[in-house]
Amino acid sequence: MDNPLLIPFDTAPFSKIKNEHFKPAFLETMAQARKEIDAIAHATSSPTFENTIAALDFAGQQLDRVSSVFFNLNSAETNPEIQKIAQEVSPLLSEFSNDIMLNEKLFKRVKAVFEKRDELELTKEEYTLLDKKYKSFSRNGANLPEDKKKRLREIDAELSKLKLQFGENVLAETNKYEMHLTDESDLEGLPDGEKEAAEQLAKSKDKEGWLITLDYPSYIPFMKYAKNRALRKELSISFGSKGFHNDELDNQENIIKIARLRFERASLLGYKSHAHFVLEERMAETPEKVHEFLNELLEKAKPAAEREFQELEAFAKELDHIDRLEKWDSAYYSEKLKQKLFNLDDEKLKPYFKLENVIAGVFKVAEKLYGLQFEEAFDIDKYHADVKTYRIYDEQKNLVSLFYADFHPRSGKRGGAWMTSFKSQYVQNGINVRPHISNVCNFTKPTASKPSLLTFNEVTTLFHEFGHGLHGMLADTVYPGLSGTSVYWDFVELPSQILENWCYEKEALELFATHYDTGEMIPMEMVEKIKESSTFQEGMATLRQLSFGLLDMSWHGSDPSHITDVKAQEKEAFKDTDLYPDMPETCMSTSFAHIFQGGYSSGYYSYKWAEVLDADAFAYFKEKGIFNKEVATKFKENILSKGGTENPMDLYKRFRGAEPKIEPLLERAGLI
Ligand SMILES: [Zn+2]
Repeated sequence: MDNPLLIPFDTAPFSKIKNEHFKPAFLETMAQARKEIDAIAHATSSPTFENTIAALDFAGQQLDRVSSVFFNLNSAETNPEIQKIAQEVSPLLSEFSNDIMLNEKLFKRVKAVFEKRDELELTKEEYTLLDKKYKSFSRNGANLPEDKKKRLREIDAELSKLKLQFGENVLAETNKYEMHLTDESDLEGLPDGEKEAAEQLAKSKDKEGWLITLDYPSYIPFMKYAKNRALRKELSISFGSKGFHNDELDNQENIIKIARLRFERASLLGYKSHAHFVLEERMAETPEKVHEFLNELLEKAKPAAEREFQELEAFAKELDHIDRLEKWDSAYYSEKLKQKLFNLDDEKLKPYFKLENVIAGVFKVAEKLYGLQFEEAFDIDKYHADVKTYRIYDEQKNLVSLFYADFHPRSGKRGGAWMTSFKSQYVQNGINVRPHISNVCNFTKPTASKPSLLTFNEVTTLFHEFGHGLHGMLADTVYPGLSGTSVYWDFVELPSQILENWCYEKEALELFATHYDTGEMIPMEMVEKIKESSTFQEGMATLRQLSFGLLDMSWHGSDPSHITDVKAQEKEAFKDTDLYPDMPETCMSTSFAHIFQGGYSSGYYSYKWAEVLDADAFAYFKEKGIFNKEVATKFKENILSKGGTENPMDLYKRFRGAEPKIEPLLERAGLI
């Protein structure tokens, strides 16, 4: 009875929550949610939008609150006990959602409403919610006859096993390899910090000298800085051949099986391919459109990429007289060439980006664009002393959102940066309930003598996550299931990526980029250099991204039953994008976790897709002024506040007056 998670709360009651409260809270709120859903499924009144679809979207609210508190903590402030609880409750939660999906009585009522959707005079938002709810059942086989339903469940079980196996193999391959160096000259070129890290790694395993592994923090710096070409080659081949050794950790069979099962699943549900199935719920809509998109970009980027490749090869030949540029030379000579051309050093930029100034800067940008006011709050319960809390108001002093900012690393927080929420926005009983949004990052903590100074990359990260934050904060929808960032996958990065653009603009930098010690503004020639260097080798980078998108589509865009040779399949997919000589020992697909383990299958293109959107949208701001109120208001009213209530292309066209064009991206990237 005294479990703080079971007493209705507004702001999460962190200081009262103990680890032992979580499991009972999950069990209790899950039981409550089951009751609510049962009541919807067994209602005797005839099914309506209100008593079925809306009711379903609002069911299990307390469970959602408990889940968000718990899983946000598991990411930002975890401990072995919380991790153990996560392992216990995760299967219960998937069982809970599976039971909803398989609830035939419930589906019957949802379907009854769906079938008369055009007679119901629904608002656009209601129509979208109905469509989304119906598809969440039908895309999981609710319309299939019993035998096919059974096969679908077998496929799903088999797929989750294979994905797990795939991931375990990649991890085992990563952990199996280490490059043990005992001669310091082999580390020539590495910055001191990287050398130290390699030395510490060796020490932690009771070894002399230095260790380099296939983990990114070890692998990337070595490829970028190590002068020893033979060692770079060895490391590069080891990295590129994970899951491709014809041994017990080989993934070739696994990915062929995954592709075939995905195709079979899509066919059962009536789709032409797995990509057709996935893209039905994407802005891009069809594989044909994705291909068209990738190929158009390819055509535009290829000349620049070839030029950059020749330039890099000439540079490497001149510097070290190598015979030809290989994949293991790419990062190394690119870094050297970049230094030569721009001489941009993070250490020179950092004094202009004191964390407090950057935060004040992003707030100022949000104020100028959307009229938001930020007030730090000292009376909101938080889960760690480092977290700062804010109340955000609009120009009329109405509360818009709460904002939790958790910016420094600590043990118990995972790496990276993300936006999340503790409470989503919705309208219930005529009240517009405002959201609780959070940004979590890992920026160096200040010390007694030195403030927290950000690299430029960290500055854009902060703006990026705050852009996702605005999507949550400014949400203005009725249903929680469509609120904020609940949008199609290839649309969700528009609000975040667009905000990064302000980091390169003089008018915005003037608001916050002052030297922490002297108060002097960042010199404009430095800003120019940042801009120029941001498009350095953009052609090659674009080709690389496109190659991954094309590889993804080659696995998922058509019937894969003819695929028996993984490497040959990959070579075919890469034939128009490869600049470097092929390394026969390596294979990308066998460790391409994004598409074979994570959720990016038929979705890799969306990285570039989102860039096209944000460049095109920002071009509108550039045209009218980056702080133009009219454009900002259109962006807020048509994109930021609308969540997933309508088709994103319709929303975009209402903001921009036309469909997105790729030219602004090509221009920004220096490709035309
Ligand atoms: Zn993002």
